[in-house]
Amino acid sequence: MNTVFYSHSDCRAHDMGAGHPECPQRLDAIADHLLATGLDVALTFKDAPLATLEQIDRAHSTGYSLALQDTLQQLALTGSTKALDPDTIACPATLNAALRAAGAAVAATDDVLAGRAQNAFCSVRPPGHHATRDQAMGFCFFNNVAVAARHALDVHGLARVAIIDFDVHHGNGTEDIIAGDERVLMCSFFQHPLYPYSGAVPKGTNMVNVPVAPYTRGAAVRATIEEMWLPALERFAPQMVFISAGFDAHREDDLGQMGLVEADYEWITRQLVSVAHRHAQGRIVSCLEGGYNLGALARSVGVHLRVLAGV
Ligand SMILES: [Zn+2]
Repeated sequence: MNTVFYSHSDCRAHDMGAGHPECPQRLDAIADHLLATGLDVALTFKDAPLATLEQIDRAHSTGYSLALQDTLQQLALTGSTKALDPDTIACPATLNAALRAAGAAVAATDDVLAGRAQNAFCSVRPPGHHATRDQAMGFCFFNNVAVAARHALDVHGLARVAIIDFDVHHGNGTEDIIAGDERVLMCSFFQHPLYPYSGAVPKGTNMVNVPVAPYTRGAAVRATIEEMWLPALERFAPQMVFISAGFDAHREDDLGQMGLVEADYEWITRQLVSVAHRHAQGRIVSCLEGGYNLGALARSVGVHLRVLAGV
């Protein structure tokens, strides 16, 4: 069984302006790294489809998704841009990019649950984990991972899925959507205090939130994962594992002040693959979130994919 790599050129066209860290070159850096290292031969490449509003509305309110779609369609027609918050700028290409990013996560879920792939990585942007049920924020428009998790639960009928978020920022949007949904266990660590300054007090009993101090390094993060995430995941026994894969806790990333390196992302991925093999027939869908130092991002995605693909 193979590892599928979902992406689409539409995700590259979304552009929030010169100097914005969430830039199209992030996807280029990942694609270039796969070619340069030969890792591409171990992956099956697929184009992301557009998500439907029905799929998106499993995680977002209908009012929000319709209003955002209208806004983004207007921008596409008029060729203009609009700031939805100071850091989240919609442009004419944003609608299709956001629909492809969520669509990748849904299609990857279908592939893995149909047995067409062991696991999948969605190399997409915009990211999703700050998008709440009713609000775009923090570079995010639709919550790709939450849309996919609800697809697995509501369409495929799974009873329990885990969402793991190792981005340096708290996945407040995902928490907003799935807190109280006992079919989902969300485990995360995040630098605290740091944008969006939430997470220290979990919003639901299905959240394992681990705030960590700035300058925390990999050894301490690994110990925390062993102590906090892994026992909770063993008890929960997820039937599928979703990953909000942000790589901005890397020591070379300027948007956070944590000290992870590639070996830490490799170790974390191995733990998640191990959980998935014990409980979930190995089924994992991983979606790109943050990661803004292009070199560190590409190398970290590389080790993440190497573990997922078993090469
Ligand atoms: Zn982040």
